[in-house]
Amino acid sequence: MSKYNNFFGDYGGRYVPEVLRLPLAELEAAYVEAIEDPAFMAEFKTFQTDFIGRPTPLLHAVNAGKALGGADIYIKLEGLANTGAHKINNAAGQALLAKRMGKTRVIAETGAGQHGVATASACARLGLECVIYMGTEDIRRQRPNVYWMELFGAEVRPVASGSATLKDAVNEAFRDWTSSYKNTHYLLGSALGPSPFPDMVREFQSVIGNEVKQQADFKIDAMVACVGGGSNAIGFFSPFIDLSGPRLIGAEAGGRGPGPGNNAVRMDASAKTGIVQGYKSRFLLDDDGQVLPTHSISAGLDYPGIGPQLAELGRTGRVEFVSVTDGEALAALKFFAATEGIIFAMESAHAGAAAMSIAKELGPGKKIIINMSGRGDKDIFISAAAFDGKNWKTFLLEESGRIND
Ligand SMILES: *Cc1c(COP(=O)(O)O)cnc(C)c1O
Repeated sequence: MSKYNNFFGDYGGRYVPEVLRLPLAELEAAYVEAIEDPAFMAEFKTFQTDFIGRPTPLLHAVNAGKALGGADIYIKLEGLANTGAHKINNAAGQALLAKRMGKTRVIAETGAGQHGVATASACARLGLECVIYMGTEDIRRQRPNVYWMELFGAEVRPVASGSATLKDAVNEAFRDWTSSYKNTHYLLGSALGPSPFPDMVREFQSVIGNEVKQQADFKIDAMVACVGGGSNAIGFFSPFIDLSGPRLIGAEAGGRGPGPGNNAVRMDASAKTGIVQGYKSRFLLDDDGQVLPTHSISAGLDYPGIGPQLAELGRTGRVEFVSVTDGEALAALKFFAATEGIIFAMESAHAGAAAMSIAKELGPGKKIIINMSGRGDKDIFISAAAFDGKNWKTFLLEESGRIND
């Protein structure tokens, strides 16, 4: 028995086929050793400063706060990290760990492509061979990210099985790993999956919360983050979890509204406890225990499961969960662009929208921090179509005409 705890209360664990027990045990040992080695942590720190661009700023969103007439709003600008989102924090930590373990090859799954881009970027920088599994449906929807991954020298392997989306890419990555782990690290992208991934990903993302703790020279009343798998939220919340405050709030994708297939809300009564892809948590499942389809305007939140630590923190009540619809997220994107001159990623706009109502509820004199997990440049095909449909369509048609010339 290792001293390492694979569970977070009721959730977590390592429910994997026999063949994956060895690589996961090896990874756990290497990870536990690395984070206690000052030399590794110093190397990680230098990477964070010079390559990722940390610390990211904590912006006092004075105009937004005034416009809403409630609590003071602050925004942690993770979108200013290299490659545009918090995903690089974890990709960098794991890529450095892979190198330390003597691995020469890295594989990863990606849905929208953000984790694939971050992984390919870190691997380019560290000279690691990189293969990204991506569903053919996601490749079609997220073509620009495929382009960046390939430019970083990664191979993008299309996955056509199942629904040809993220969960199928995860299955293929695990399949690869069962036969390749001697020289290959599987760089999983969120705070979920079999142990030690949820713990390790939180550890590498906790830089977000640790910086906030240093940057906020005031009493924080509430912190809000969006929750897909949960990596930006758990990293942002991490240093505050064991304290009695601030309030910690997770915003899930309310999509088109209630009902199966319309959203990705795992923390209300519509979800069930289950074991999927190696871990026990809350999932959107049908009566046979099969994973249900999900919907969100933001690809990063469009996922049927939630990280086990957040599921447990929701069960105990330390983290509160709210859901935000596609329309509310779009409205928040517009609001913060107009008042503060910043573009939230569509995922992060869910946190922005939740914070707008919580700021009003808290009232003047209180302080709230939003984690802007990423910037919204990547979403131009969605936001431009939503805000300026006609001109955008004309532009795309003209552009495709030019390519054909
Ligand atoms: C991937 C992504 C998310 C969702 O993932 P988490 O693991 O829940 O953080 C949120 N925001 C952005 C910008 C993303 O790229």
